[in-house]
Amino acid sequence: MAIYLDNAATTRVDDKVIEAMTGALNIYGNPSSVYTIGREAKSVLEKSRETVAKVINAETTEIFFTSCGTESDNWAIRGVAETLKEKGNHIITTVFEHHAVLHTCEYLEKNGFEVTYLPVSAEGIINIEDLKNAIRPTTILITVMFGNNEIGTIQPIKEIGTIAREKNILFHTDAVQAFAHEKIDVKDMNIDLLSASGHKIHAAKGVGMLYIRKGIKLTNLLHGGAQEKKRRGGTENIPNIVGFAKACEIAMEEFEENHAKITKMRNHLMERILTEIPHTRLNGSRESRLAGNCNISFDFIEGESILLMLDMNGIYASSGSACTSGSLDPSHVLLSLGCKHEQAHGSLRLSIGKYNTMEELDEVVEKLKPIINRLREMSPLYENFVKGVKGEWEH
Ligand code: PLP
Repeated sequence: MAIYLDNAATTRVDDKVIEAMTGALNIYGNPSSVYTIGREAKSVLEKSRETVAKVINAETTEIFFTSCGTESDNWAIRGVAETLKEKGNHIITTVFEHHAVLHTCEYLEKNGFEVTYLPVSAEGIINIEDLKNAIRPTTILITVMFGNNEIGTIQPIKEIGTIAREKNILFHTDAVQAFAHEKIDVKDMNIDLLSASGHKIHAAKGVGMLYIRKGIKLTNLLHGGAQEKKRRGGTENIPNIVGFAKACEIAMEEFEENHAKITKMRNHLMERILTEIPHTRLNGSRESRLAGNCNISFDFIEGESILLMLDMNGIYASSGSACTSGSLDPSHVLLSLGCKHEQAHGSLRLSIGKYNTMEELDEVVEKLKPIINRLREMSPLYENFVKGVKGEWEH
């Protein structure tokens, strides 16, 4: 049986979600139509919105369905930039955001906006003083991710939100990795805009949402019909939205149990690898970390080679974010922690989900050990290290 350890890339759809979605395929009325089956679809849509809102303690009217996390990020950032361009042209973000945020910021830079990319510590956390110092009279938006997709570190979201609110700057967080996995309260944390995605929480791909705090104006990203209170054109994807809401409902019911179970499995896997395989290091903070994330660097070898050999053993993992894997560039996230190029190349992300078991993780460690040994035997860098030749690996 294959062992799936790439839950940060995407998750297996929960059987109960499939059941709910299959049922919803029969609700074929258009929610914008006024006759009975249209109203039926509308009612299902609104019920789903209510369920999703509860996950982050938002009002139902503050949830807007989108096609994915990427769309939500684009909408939030471009929407604020366009709306507030008369007020200012400065945005603050971090160097290690997902490309959905980074590339949107780069696009805006080409269109007259100025962006400050805050550095992160070796632990993968921003420094609040850096944030305070970066604020200018022209700052209109702070966008900082909740939990990092590669190294899993969680940012001091409430502190950032409090600073942003005091300074009257909008605060967006990309919570695609943290939504329904970590406790989030948009009111308590002073979050103005929040992005989430269904496929990271055992719903299907192709559905996401943007939380927009009541009263915030945002230009539309998709122009079209009057859907989503005239803010996002496009006929709503009812089966996917129903599935997303079902996944939220399940995640809330199972929250404490899953969080504790996944954290325990993650710690077990992490400790075993770090103690039983030499020349390994954990990337990112141990404490402020998403429950399921284990990202480890293996010196002297390539993460891609580890991945291929794990795959041959029926184990699915990742060497960086799914969107950048396949590219030869080292991960921008690992480089931002101060990792050297070779070290960044040798990283493995094992992301654990609710369907994993302790037995699976023990099997992964047992299979990983000979794989790492074999790859090191073939590595000229390891050979040099053994011979005592000074190189990149000193740290
Ligand atoms: N933001 C983060 C932190 C992510 O991890 C991802 C997906 O990996 C996205 C945004 C994009 O989400 P989606 O795949 O739904 O477009």
